[in-house]
Amino acid sequence: MAKKRVVLTFPPELTEKPLTYHLVKDFDLAINILKAKITPGEEGTLVLELSNGSPQKIDEGLDFLVRHGVAIEPLSKRISLQEEECIHCGSCTAVCKSGALSLGEENRLVFDRDKCIVCELCVTACPMRVIKVIF
Ligand code: SF4
Ligand code: SF4
Repeated sequence: MAKKRVVLTFPPELTEKPLTYHLVKDFDLAINILKAKITPGEEGTLVLELSNGSPQKIDEGLDFLVRHGVAIEPLSKRISLQEEECIHCGSCTAVCKSGALSLGEENRLVFDRDKCIVCELCVTACPMRVIKVIF
């Protein structure tokens, strides 16, 4: 299964158009909305994970969006965790709504990168400052 994580920026005139619906219907893409900030009449931002059996289908769907005036950037930020300095206090798990951070066996921190939506809430929640955003 091919996957791509992208940041979409919609101009104000597009925020009320059902473009993501067309990604599903016309390009057969599965869409996971990781983050959304859309106000009708203003510029909107969506962070999506797109998947399909064929990478070409994903590219075709993204081309469709670009043709309609949507700006697309890869989701290039990621979270870095210095595990050797983590004290497994669990503070970061309390703010991680995506479930990327959790306490596992023997209450040790587990980081599932695939679930991280780079909301950055854990960065300030960590008393040891061992979580950083990397660009
Ligand atoms: S940035 Fe931190 S809090 Fe946000 S989803 Fe990723 S791991 Fe969880
Ligand atoms: S808040 Fe920091 S020290 Fe505590 S478990 Fe999370 S990463 Fe480790």
